[in-house]
Amino acid sequence: MLKNLSKTHITLAAAATAVITTAALMSPSTDVEAKRMSYAIDLDLQGDAGKTAPSAHNATGSPGAGPDTAQQASIAPGANAGNAATQTEPSQPDIDWQAFDIKSGDTLSSLFQKAGFNDAIMLSVIHGEGEAEKLQRLYAGEKIQFGTNDEGQLVAIELKRSLLESLKITKADEGFTGETEVREPEIRPVFASGEIDDSLYLAAREAGLNDRLTMEMSGIFGWVIDFVYDIRKGDRFELVYEELYVDGKKFDTGRILSARLVNRDSEHVALLYTDSNGDADYYTPQGKSMRKAFLRVPINARVSSPFNLQRRHPVLDVVRPHEGTDYAAPPGTPIKAAGSGRVKFSGWKGGYGRTVILQHGDNITTLYAHMRGIARGIKNGTRVKQGETIGYLGSSGMVTGPHLHYEFRINGAAKNSRTVKLPDAKPIPSSEMARFKQATEQRLAQFNVFREDPQQLAMASSE
Ligand SMILES: [Zn+2]
Repeated sequence: MLKNLSKTHITLAAAATAVITTAALMSPSTDVEAKRMSYAIDLDLQGDAGKTAPSAHNATGSPGAGPDTAQQASIAPGANAGNAATQTEPSQPDIDWQAFDIKSGDTLSSLFQKAGFNDAIMLSVIHGEGEAEKLQRLYAGEKIQFGTNDEGQLVAIELKRSLLESLKITKADEGFTGETEVREPEIRPVFASGEIDDSLYLAAREAGLNDRLTMEMSGIFGWVIDFVYDIRKGDRFELVYEELYVDGKKFDTGRILSARLVNRDSEHVALLYTDSNGDADYYTPQGKSMRKAFLRVPINARVSSPFNLQRRHPVLDVVRPHEGTDYAAPPGTPIKAAGSGRVKFSGWKGGYGRTVILQHGDNITTLYAHMRGIARGIKNGTRVKQGETIGYLGSSGMVTGPHLHYEFRINGAAKNSRTVKLPDAKPIPSSEMARFKQATEQRLAQFNVFREDPQQLAMASSE
C-alpha cells in the first residue's frame, strides 16, 4: 500500500527534492505546534489507537507508545487464560487454555502440575516428535499455555518465547509434535519531527522517539555536527522510521529510513541504502557517505582537557604542549578505533602508559593512551575497523586521574582532533550509482510525502 503510494508520488517528490532546501528551511514553527497537539490527542487514544485511529497514531510518531508501553499492552491479555485463548487460537474454540508466566524457580514439572497434568504426561510431550523436546528449555519471562479438549485431555501446548517466537506442540493420534513458529513483524513507516529547544534528546522525546532511535539519529548526523557544541535553539529534525507490529499492535521500532537535520543555516539529508553487497548505511541523496573516514570522538565521554599547544603540564608543572584531547569517563569505558587502519604500536609507552597507535593510509596516525587494558587481538600489524574496540579507559602512565589521551597526527604533526577537517568515507561507487539512485528516489519520495502531509499518507498506508 505504501509502496504503491510512494510510486505514484515519485514525480511529485522529484519536484520536491529540488525545493527541499528552501521550503525546508522555511518550515514554520506553527507546523511543529500542530504536531505536538496531535500527540496529546494521540495519548488519550492510546488504548485502542491501533484499531480505531491508526491514521492519527501513525502520522505523529505516537509518543508514550514506546516499546515498553506497546509491549505491555500486547502481553498483558495473555496473563488471563481466557483472553490468551481468544488471542492466539481463535480458530479452535473447543480448546480450553490455561496460561502461566514462567518465573525463576519454575520447572516444567511444576508447571504441568499447576495445569493439572502429571509427570507421565509431561514425559510423553517432551518425547514427542519434531521440536517437542525443546520444551525442556524454559526461561523466566516466557509464557506457557496448556490447551485441553472437552474431555480434559491435554491436546496442545504453546511456549511463547517472545512476541515473535513460539514453540507449538499439538497432539495427533500418534502423539505430540512440536514446531517452532517465528513470525515476521509487519513494518510500518512513521514520520516524526521536532524543533530543538535545549537538547536533541529532549526534543526527540517530545517527538515520541525512544532512546534507541535518538541515539541512532545522533549517530547518523554525529559525523557532520557535534550535538553538544553545534546545536542551536531552533534547529529541526525530521525522520521516517519503522514501527514493528504484531497482531496489529506495535511492539518495537526498527530502522531509520530517512532523516533530515537543519542545523543553523545548513541542511543535512540522510537516506538508508543497502548496497549490492548487502551492507546498509546512510548516504546523502547525491551518494556521499554520511560518515567520515574518522570518528570525531573515539569514546563516549566528555572532554576533560582540550588540545592546547601552550598548556602547562598538570604533573610536571612546566609549559608543555598538550598534543591531544583528554576524555574523562569511568575506568573500563571502551575506546574505539577512530578510523580503519593497521596497528602501528601496541604496548607500554613511557608516560603514555598502555598505548595503541594506529596507522591510517600513508599520512595519518591516531594515538590512544593511559589505557587500563588493550583489547584482545590488538597487536602490532593487526588490521582494525573503524569503531572497533581497541582498549579500555584507565590511568596507566603519568596521569592525575583516569582518562583517555587521544592524538590525531597528519604527517607526524599533532592536529586538534575536534576541529581538523576529516576526510570523507567512501561514496557510492559510480558502478552502483544507477542502483543507488533508483532505491533512494523512492525513499526520498516517501519522506517528502510524509513531510507534506503526514495525515494523508498515514491514512493511505493503513488501508
Ligand atoms: Zn592528554
